[in-house]
Amino acid sequence: MNDPINQKVSQRSPGYQLTGGGFIVDDITPNEIFISEEFTEEQLMIKEMVIDFCVQNIQEPFFKNGRELEATLPEDRKKIVSILKKAGELGLCGISISEAYGGMGLDFNTSILFNEALASGFAFATTLGAQTSIGSLPIYYYGNEKQKQQYLPGIASGKLIASYALTEPNSGSDANSAKTNATLSDDGTTYSLNGQKIWITNGGFADVYIVFAKIEDDKNMSAFIVERNYPGFSVGKEAKKMGIKASSTVQIFFDNCLVPSQNLLGNRGAGFKMALNILNTGRIKIGAGGVGAGKFSVTKGIEYALKRQQFNQPIADFGAIKQKISNIITQTYALEATVYRTGKNIDKKIDELVQNGVNDATSKLKGVKEFAVECAILKVVGANLACYATDEVMQIHGGMGYAAELGLEMAYRDSRITKIYEGTNDINGMLSVAELIKKGLKTKKIDLNGAGKKIPLMILSEYFRWGKSRGWKREKRLIKGIKNTFLLILGSAGKNLKQDLIKEQEIVLNLSSILEEAYMAESVYLKVRKLASSNREDLDLSVQKKIAKLYLYKSLNRVQNEAKEAIDSFASGLEKRFLTYLVCKLLPPYLENPKTLSREITDHALMQKKYPF
Ligand SMILES: Cc1cc2nc3c(=O)[nH]c(=O)nc-3n(C[C@H](O)[C@H](O)[C@H](O)COP(=O)(O)OP(=O)(O)OC[C@H]3O[C@@H](n4cnc5c(N)ncnc54)[C@H](O)[C@@H]3O)c2cc1C
Repeated sequence: MNDPINQKVSQRSPGYQLTGGGFIVDDITPNEIFISEEFTEEQLMIKEMVIDFCVQNIQEPFFKNGRELEATLPEDRKKIVSILKKAGELGLCGISISEAYGGMGLDFNTSILFNEALASGFAFATTLGAQTSIGSLPIYYYGNEKQKQQYLPGIASGKLIASYALTEPNSGSDANSAKTNATLSDDGTTYSLNGQKIWITNGGFADVYIVFAKIEDDKNMSAFIVERNYPGFSVGKEAKKMGIKASSTVQIFFDNCLVPSQNLLGNRGAGFKMALNILNTGRIKIGAGGVGAGKFSVTKGIEYALKRQQFNQPIADFGAIKQKISNIITQTYALEATVYRTGKNIDKKIDELVQNGVNDATSKLKGVKEFAVECAILKVVGANLACYATDEVMQIHGGMGYAAELGLEMAYRDSRITKIYEGTNDINGMLSVAELIKKGLKTKKIDLNGAGKKIPLMILSEYFRWGKSRGWKREKRLIKGIKNTFLLILGSAGKNLKQDLIKEQEIVLNLSSILEEAYMAESVYLKVRKLASSNREDLDLSVQKKIAKLYLYKSLNRVQNEAKEAIDSFASGLEKRFLTYLVCKLLPPYLENPKTLSREITDHALMQKKYPF
């Protein structure tokens, strides 16, 4: 029989991969993805430099003093500022700003590798993250030459501290409903801002704020560069928070705050789009932070599990502990595969745009925007993993995990914010599906309809026969099965609910979980296959293969549940039975032994005494 999968691979154009969200209909081969083993020595040196910086400036002082810095205390606030300035002296504040404006001009994938490393800095990841991303990129991406020259060198060197002010007391997820208002003076020289912002990271000590406000009766917001010393600007008290206490979070107020009209950033009314585009970058960075949090936490868990004896044996001998360790390792490995695959695709898109004559900053912006679906998925997975890993490692430590001195309860508290900021996880989950539908239906860049329609016929014509499967054929078909499950449910739900689908959030969230699993399971599988095809004799891939299998095993369980819930939520009668039958055909049992896989993965990590890759 014709194999439509492989046929499609050979027919597509070289640029196909650069369509964000395209993974759901395309079949990617291992050689088409980037894997973290391909980072150059120079890139890895940057990562090590950031980890060393965090260890020396954050971890060691914490363990020496036995307490975390608190931005609510003036003395600690000074220390936080001095650490940020020190980072600036090393060039770490300008990673994404081009050399022309005093930055390091790192490629996109290195800039997210930086964020993986930054996870070692606990709350400082948020502080430096705001400086290098949401606080400065709006100027780099949208500023005019004069604005770039005026602010970027200072931000890149750490002399100026930057901050991003979008959220208001009554507008969080619904950001465009912000009430902060700007009025242009009659002579056109000055805007007068009135209103208030809340939860502003770095706000307590920033010099420059990117502020979103509506000009007069505009429907959409505009963006302004506001300096701390402008008349009518004031900063509230530091917020008392559950975690990231060493990060400054304040309210800021505008009382007839006078902003020169040349500080309007980009076009009037373009602020909302700008705010959303900037958040795409922040989202994949949270994904990379999840990789760092997973590696850091599980290493602590492994060290403790080997040392701690109960019932006359190390707790590492217990299956319950092994299961926790293997779950974190497996999820971290899969997330790493997915994050850097995406980062490299973004870099390729940026290169393509630059070659077509688009300037550097706009190429970066558009490159990331193309992969908005993937960025939203990675935000959700990264935040979930950071929270899961810190929680489970605290559990491995028993009572000691709850004690402040080990820093684990701090990591647990610090990680929780990642599910909330840069758009909550729920909002990002729904966004991943909404963006994909938009691309599929409006721009026709991804043929969701066409792909979905073929599935019942393919199943009935027994394309999905299983028979004996050797090598990785079974996994390849199962991953295709997850993708087709997504397309089948999206297509059927869309037919039933039409425009209302997007309002049926429970179903959209079921779909987003399946989409997430399709992308993650495929990435880990492709990574291991790529490593296997390198034929390096020094490379023993037995553990990585087990990780790919365990990931897929758990992924399939989740997809089956989510698919059932979705179908039960919108279909009835014959259609429900037919869809359920089709999903069973797409996702047949994957006969692996999760307990054995888990133990073997953990035993390998215990031998290495750390996250093993
Ligand atoms: C420590 C910290 C630092 C921050 N840093 C910054 C910063 O530097 N700059 C900045 O501008 N903001 C910042 N934020 C704000 C952050 O981005 C918002 O808190 C976040 O976007 C959520 O908005 P909200 O708190 O108003 O929650 P809400 O929007 O009120 O949401 C409450 C709940 O309702 C859900 N919900 C909302 N709308 C919908 C919907 N349409 N469908 C389904 N569910 C929905 C949400 O998922 C959430 O579970 C920070 C927040 C914190 C806590």
